[in-house]
Amino acid sequence: MSILFIEDEPKVATSLQKGLEENGFEVDLAPDGAVGRHMASQKAYDLILLDINLPFVNGYEVCRSIRSTNTEVPIIMVTARGTVDEKISGFDAGADDYMVKPFDFRELLARIRVFLKRGGGGKEMNEGLILRVADLELNTASQTVSRQGMPIVLTAKEYALLEFLVRSNGRVVTRAEITEKVWDVNFDTGTNVVDVYINFLRKKIDRNFEPKLIQTKQGVGYFLKPQ
Ligand code: CA
Repeated sequence: MSILFIEDEPKVATSLQKGLEENGFEVDLAPDGAVGRHMASQKAYDLILLDINLPFVNGYEVCRSIRSTNTEVPIIMVTARGTVDEKISGFDAGADDYMVKPFDFRELLARIRVFLKRGGGGKEMNEGLILRVADLELNTASQTVSRQGMPIVLTAKEYALLEFLVRSNGRVVTRAEITEKVWDVNFDTGTNVVDVYINFLRKKIDRNFEPKLIQTKQGVGYFLKPQ
């Protein structure tokens, strides 16, 4: 299992590298955003750890750039910043998870293992499973989405949210349920990250199509059903 760690603080970089290597991972270090972006395009890493405040190219830019060609690789942002706005910017750039420094190394390890399990045996490989709601189609193996046969490009997080809604089968799911199932973490209370992501999805899934699929149950949550 190979991990790319893009981090400009040498002490943080080497201590984390050492810890991960002791746990059986191969870790390549990149000291700035430009080098990190280049390395990410040269090798198929199993996971990328990405600092936000980096020389030359910041973490958000690096993340967007990686996502433009690779929607699969899990990206965990590791940063000293920790506001909800910054988390949302990270997720918006295509990150899958977010850890605020200083953090417990064991927690990072646990989250890395969740992602690597998902990418490997966790997925319905082979032909995968096709999920359909009206003319919306999800392929759970390739994690690709189309409506009326037209491909729709989603970030990993947007896809996870959509698949969760589809699998809920028209049932109303609460924001709390969504943050727990889709983000795996309990967000700071009061965050509107779910609403922000529902808006991203609506733009991609519903704006140019009929019938509208993503419905709001006022004061409760969301559900997916043709209007
Ligand atoms: Ca930094």
